[in-house]
Amino acid sequence: MASELARIIQDGRRIVFFGGAGTSTESGIPDFRSGGGLYRRGTGTRYRPEEVLSHSFFVRHTAEFFDYYRSHLLYPDAVPNPAHLALARLEQRGALTAVVTQNIDGLHQAAGSRNVLELHGSVHRNTCLRCGRGYGLDAILTADGVPTCACGGVIKPDVVLYEEGLDPAVLDAAVDQLARADTLIVGGTSLSVYPAAGLIRSFAGDQLVLINKEATGYDGLATLVLHEPIGRTLAAAVP
Ligand code: NAD
Repeated sequence: MASELARIIQDGRRIVFFGGAGTSTESGIPDFRSGGGLYRRGTGTRYRPEEVLSHSFFVRHTAEFFDYYRSHLLYPDAVPNPAHLALARLEQRGALTAVVTQNIDGLHQAAGSRNVLELHGSVHRNTCLRCGRGYGLDAILTADGVPTCACGGVIKPDVVLYEEGLDPAVLDAAVDQLARADTLIVGGTSLSVYPAAGLIRSFAGDQLVLINKEATGYDGLATLVLHEPIGRTLAAAVP
């Protein structure tokens, strides 16, 4: 089966990767929905993770939001794993045109990928809500409590919270990449977060590959389904 993946990748002229949290679990960043995922761990408060990571919670309980965000969503020491590195190699060889990711960790770029469409934003970009000044991750990590700008405004991470819309420009670019791809590799995503998951319907090519430890609602549509760890699987297929 793994050699079938290698063959599909070898034949691909416009490959797109669409990924989620499972792409980064082998870098030590937990996903949301599997056994050790963030949803199973709770928040240590009376709120559920989905509530804490919502726009209205951010507005009403900003300090609690940052407590949870800092302790559960930021992994500044994480490094790319073999999955990120294999995808960067594929792009360098001219076979992969884009990585479309639901992840916010920046590990595809750290691995060397260049065309990365971050549907849910990035922990590495942060903006003052009052004056618009941009900050890096350090501003969030080193702040005591709510991170604030020199102007006194709250600095908000450029990550898409529940109740917030996706950036239309990123969404359009992702749809365009998927529509023009001949091969789509979907990996490490439960395909349950919308509208991101619905994007794969824009794919009109021949080869749809799913690499996910657990079954997803899209398994029946794929040419090849691999319920395997993504790092080892992609590394073997892209030597
Ligand atoms: P999810 O938690 O819903 O699903 C992850 C899927 O990956 C699961 O089905 C799991 O079986 C699979 N998986 C886990 N480790 C794997 C591995 N090593 N190899 C293959 N499959 C593996 O994640 P999602 O679908 O991305 O949706 C969750 C949302 O949470 C996304 O919007 C994402 O932005 C956000 N999130 C991001 C990060 C990150 O940036 N690293 C981490 C947690 C959550």
